[in-house]
Amino acid sequence: MSRPKQNRKISNPPLMQGFKPFGIPRKMLKEVTLLYDEYEAIRLLDYEGLRQEQAAKQMNVSRPTLTRIYEQARKTIAQALVEGNMVNIEGGNVQFDREWFRCRRCYKLVGGRENHVRCKDCKIYGNDELMPINADGK
Ligand SMILES: [Zn+2]
Repeated sequence: MSRPKQNRKISNPPLMQGFKPFGIPRKMLKEVTLLYDEYEAIRLLDYEGLRQEQAAKQMNVSRPTLTRIYEQARKTIAQALVEGNMVNIEGGNVQFDREWFRCRRCYKLVGGRENHVRCKDCKIYGNDELMPINADGK
């Protein structure tokens, strides 16, 4: 018996695609994944300082689910910190408040196709440079 998973609400994607430790050769880096919903739980609880009930409501999940997401997020971050892993932030069962894109060239975030303006440092401008950000992490 499986219940259909509800999409967890995320206000906006993180500025970066992930984190890379320095002081370790690139080829020796192991990668771990922090899901978008895990990132959002950290943002709401530790950065915004929300209480778990408030964060759960904002993400449209139950309080126990929020707690599980948060615990997994902290586990992943702790592992990355201790083991020196690269952290990719992507994926998860999430729904953004609108369509988000990232510029392929300068990695700037664009919220909604209609808000796409020429990047300051990008010579080429067009919709080709927009990478959609979605639950598949693509
Ligand atoms: Zn750009």
